[in-house]
Amino acid sequence: MTNTKKILVADHDIQITAFLQERIKDKKFHFILATSMEYVVSLLESETFFAAIVDFEMQNITGEKVIDYVLEKKIPTIATFDELTDEQYIEVTNYPVIDYVIKNNLAGKSYLADLLQGLESFYNRHVLICSKDHSSLTTKSITQVFRSLLFQPIITSSKKDALELMRNDECIKIVYVDEELEDKSGLLLCREIKNRYPKRDMILFGGTVINGDTKRVEKLKGEFFKSGVTDFFSESIDKERFNTHIMSMMKILKQKQRLDTYIETVDKYVLVSITNKKGVIVYASDAFSEMSGYSKEELIGRNHNIVRHPDMDSSIYKEMWETIKAGHVWSGELKNRKKSGDFYWVSVAIEPIYDDFGLLMGYQSIRFDITDKKRVEELSIRDKLTGAYNRNKFDDVLNYEFAQRGRYKKELAMIMVDFDHFKNVNDSYGHQAGDHVLVESAKIIESCVRESDSFCRWGGEEFAVICPFTDLEGVLNLAEKIRLAVSNFHFIDIVRQTVSLGVAVAKENDTIEAFLKRSDDALYMAKEMGRNRVMS
Ligand code: GH3
Ligand code: MG
Ligand code: MG
Repeated sequence: MTNTKKILVADHDIQITAFLQERIKDKKFHFILATSMEYVVSLLESETFFAAIVDFEMQNITGEKVIDYVLEKKIPTIATFDELTDEQYIEVTNYPVIDYVIKNNLAGKSYLADLLQGLESFYNRHVLICSKDHSSLTTKSITQVFRSLLFQPIITSSKKDALELMRNDECIKIVYVDEELEDKSGLLLCREIKNRYPKRDMILFGGTVINGDTKRVEKLKGEFFKSGVTDFFSESIDKERFNTHIMSMMKILKQKQRLDTYIETVDKYVLVSITNKKGVIVYASDAFSEMSGYSKEELIGRNHNIVRHPDMDSSIYKEMWETIKAGHVWSGELKNRKKSGDFYWVSVAIEPIYDDFGLLMGYQSIRFDITDKKRVEELSIRDKLTGAYNRNKFDDVLNYEFAQRGRYKKELAMIMVDFDHFKNVNDSYGHQAGDHVLVESAKIIESCVRESDSFCRWGGEEFAVICPFTDLEGVLNLAEKIRLAVSNFHFIDIVRQTVSLGVAVAKENDTIEAFLKRSDDALYMAKEMGRNRVMS
């Protein structure tokens, strides 16, 4: 707890300490409660305090006030009251305290918590005070108010010096500009600051030493406000108004900074995009731009289907649009296409976004890169050599399709493919040539089957195809198509190669085992009958 700041709480009861401890949980402060003058004295001798919160009415036995003692020790002090009488008000305003707080209500206690946190962030921060007449009432009183809030005022009297100081010190976030400067009018300085630092978050105050001439002051005030100031002071400063103003402005700036950092992080690491109602990209995060390979300029204004991959079935997008148009969140896994033509997989959530009046503005998507996960998944379901499904995956598909067939009373067929005299291929041309035939044949079979069919390398030089919604005639046609396609293909060196095929159609009250056996038996028959043929 190296940066913890000690706060002395001189009060008869623990209420206010308990409240502050509960409210300010970030361990910035260590509150030390002293319920007697004696303890206050001994604490101030042994500890260094950042600030003190002192009950205004707290006294020792002889009547000496604790607040006098604490202020004498030059500790920034906030006076607290249970209730504030008119006499007490007059009395406390003569004390050099930071502020006073009525602690018998929640709003007062919350104000105290905000004030403390404010002091912590104001401590030693530079504020720039630009005024020709340092001894004027306005300048003196604004400097005083900043000091009491623990800021460190830097005073300058010319526009030129003020701009120089701002250029060298990026930490200057608060500037007070008097109407009269040595070189130019303060108004011009305000405009110049706004001009030079349009993006710097800061608080700009204006003021004048003129008093009496109300019309002139009113005119100046208007001009200052229109030059970007957030408040304008003439004569003495209304401390109450100033404290609350500065506290809420600083709070807003702090929140904005946090938000900016947050947005920056999201932009950098999260794949976010926002489209209008028609799917035209209006926002793309850095991360999304990097992943897709398109610059933000290339993405914005283009339809989101710029990243759509042809491998993705259009039914997925149809379902997605139906879901989000109905006002729901759609989530799923999508294969996207990079500018380079490469692909990446994302897990995505897309949701509608609305304006303040509840009108649909467009859709926002957040995605995570799952390309690696997909690669591993792919590897685990595919045969290494041919890229066809492996037996494990095939078993899953077969179980699923078999159950579907039972449920919906649909046809289901299957084909077993075995190469004829494949041993000869290996013996005559070598194992590598055999492999080549298998790889090419997998491509041939894939080109023959429909989207809804699945095929796998059953083992060795055998392939199997599952054909949902297919009757005997249909499966015989497909098998014949495969047979012809393979036998007509010119494999390098080997020239021609034939296959035998066995087909089966699932029956009522069938089992997977019996179904498989029938297709295997059919294949055996095709071999028996002289090969290069289809049997059922
Ligand atoms: P048949 O017409 O009776 O099917 O004759 P066949 O020679 O094809 O006999 P069988 O199906 O029993 O033999 C399969 C042969 O396929 C055995 C093996 O040498 C070869 N084979 C199996 N897997 C591979 C592989 O991954 N690569 C290569 N090059 N050959 C394989
Ligand atoms: Mg064979
Ligand atoms: Mg075989």
